Amino acid sequence: MTHRVDSSLLYELKEFGAVGLEKCINCGNCTAICSLSKEDDRFPRHMIRMAQLGMKDELLGSQELWLCYNCGDCSETCPQQAEPANFMAAARCYAVTHYAPLKIGNLFCKRPLLGGSIAALMVLFFSIFMYGESQTMATEQLKLFGFIPYELIHTAGLIGMVLIGLLSVVAILTMMSRIARVNHLSFKDFFNGTRMNWIRAFWDAVIVQSLGQKRYREECETPENTRVWYFSKWFVHAATMWGFLGLLFATALNYLLDIIGVKATGAFVPIWYPTRLIGTLSGLLFMYGVSALLYKRWKSVDKAHSFSRPSDWIFLTLLWLSGVTGFIIEIALYLPGAPLWGYWMFIFHVAVSITLLLLLPFTKFAHAIYRIVALYIHALKPSAEAKPTQPEAAAAD
Ligand code: SF4
Ligand code: SF4
Repeated sequence: MTHRVDSSLLYELKEFGAVGLEKCINCGNCTAICSLSKEDDRFPRHMIRMAQLGMKDELLGSQELWLCYNCGDCSETCPQQAEPANFMAAARCYAVTHYAPLKIGNLFCKRPLLGGSIAALMVLFFSIFMYGESQTMATEQLKLFGFIPYELIHTAGLIGMVLIGLLSVVAILTMMSRIARVNHLSFKDFFNGTRMNWIRAFWDAVIVQSLGQKRYREECETPENTRVWYFSKWFVHAATMWGFLGLLFATALNYLLDIIGVKATGAFVPIWYPTRLIGTLSGLLFMYGVSALLYKRWKSVDKAHSFSRPSDWIFLTLLWLSGVTGFIIEIALYLPGAPLWGYWMFIFHVAVSITLLLLLPFTKFAHAIYRIVALYIHALKPSAEAKPTQPEAAAAD
């Protein structure tokens, strides 16, 4: 592969928030402190070198970009205040805009006003749309979940899911092809070896690293930030993710119970009903995680949270709104007579959730997918390592 130099890369990355990048003197302190850097690794120093040398393709085709957990240790010890952790976050945001079609991500990573306005307008549009549809129903005997026609939500949800699914597949394939090109691999190499190898890599990526947060727990936590475990970086991140997955699970279970005829979706159930209980507990965990993440960014509690991109705020705000409106709906459900504000809240909740989902490939939400793909490729290392890694060698100088 020939190395194309993009002289505007450094400037572009600065637009994504990589402040201080030009101050790096390539000393290697960040590599020494980073617990993800093993033996003769040059991570993350060589990533910064790539950016300084304008090696855009190599940067975008780097799986290491997604292995970093933004612990901030490298920034804490950088003698030049080059903010390497912040650079990694900016580079991930930069990559998100390049993997997703039409570079729509630019709006959410670089243009706070425009990106925020688009997200707000989407919420408003879906709210008005659903309110308009709800007027076609007889209003006399409305129940809370009957306010919006179930078929409408179902169809809109399906279309949205298919669209986002397709865009996400295109983005993932773009990411994989960039990694393949830079490392002289073919797509086949990502599925090399026995079926056992794939299963092992998948298990490591999804269960051990993503759900179990192994690296984050064991390697990216310094004694300082584990003093209060429930405020530690890994737990706050895990609470958000586990809570979100729990809510998804409860919703899926609800649909399943409807399909097999046990309980109609939206039918009133007591608080201790299994799907309601799972949803409530997951929601509490989720709200704690998202609120703590917002607080950490708002207060800039450490280097890892000292600089936030618009995409970070938009993503976290949408998550928080979807969680808090979910709880308000639940309160309305158990109040006598199902008060009218519960209906408005339900409309707003669905609108926020649809917006969150539709923006998945363009905001920070996308990191959830790219990280799993990168972890999977990382776990398949033996087949990938058989090939030369020229770009790394070039950036090491
Ligand atoms: S980012 Fe900082 S610690 Fe890392 S190589 Fe550059 S100057 Fe050294
Ligand atoms: S933020 Fe943490 S994991 Fe990422 S490069 Fe820096 S030290 Fe390594």
